[in-house]
Amino acid sequence: MATIFSRIVKGEIPSHKIAEDENYYAFLDINPLARGHTLVIPKKEIDYIFDMDDELLAGMQVFSKHVARAIEKVIPCKRIGVAVLGLEVPHAHIHLIPVNSIDDINFGLPKLKLSFDELAEIAEKIRQEIR
Ligand code: AMP
Repeated sequence: MATIFSRIVKGEIPSHKIAEDENYYAFLDINPLARGHTLVIPKKEIDYIFDMDDELLAGMQVFSKHVARAIEKVIPCKRIGVAVLGLEVPHAHIHLIPVNSIDDINFGLPKLKLSFDELAEIAEKIRQEIR
């Protein structure tokens, strides 16, 4: 069965898209730790990130870099933190999270409650910074 993220790529489930190319897709996390919290995934359905072949994994890092640069321009923060968990959704993904301190990347904390419109506005601003 297709993962929820594959269904997002196919457009069967809505997402706040940030960027995509032939191999990768980036979209806002629906339960973000911070404004601008973004997920980057390979379009190819692979559960565990370290099962990805070298080239696809390396390309995902470069794609993530371009997305992170765009997030930085929109969300004031010290850095974009990078995390990989994959405990919930069995489709490889990188979390890109704007952070100012170590506490900002604690997945045990309550998530932000952002409305559809707030997420849409953030996504639109980040999209405009993608090059
Ligand atoms: P994990 O697999 O532990 O890295 O966590 C999966 C992440 O995917 C969580 O941060 C969820 O909030 C996020 N997530 C799950 N479903 C969706 C969705 N439909 N759209 C955007 N983000 C999602």
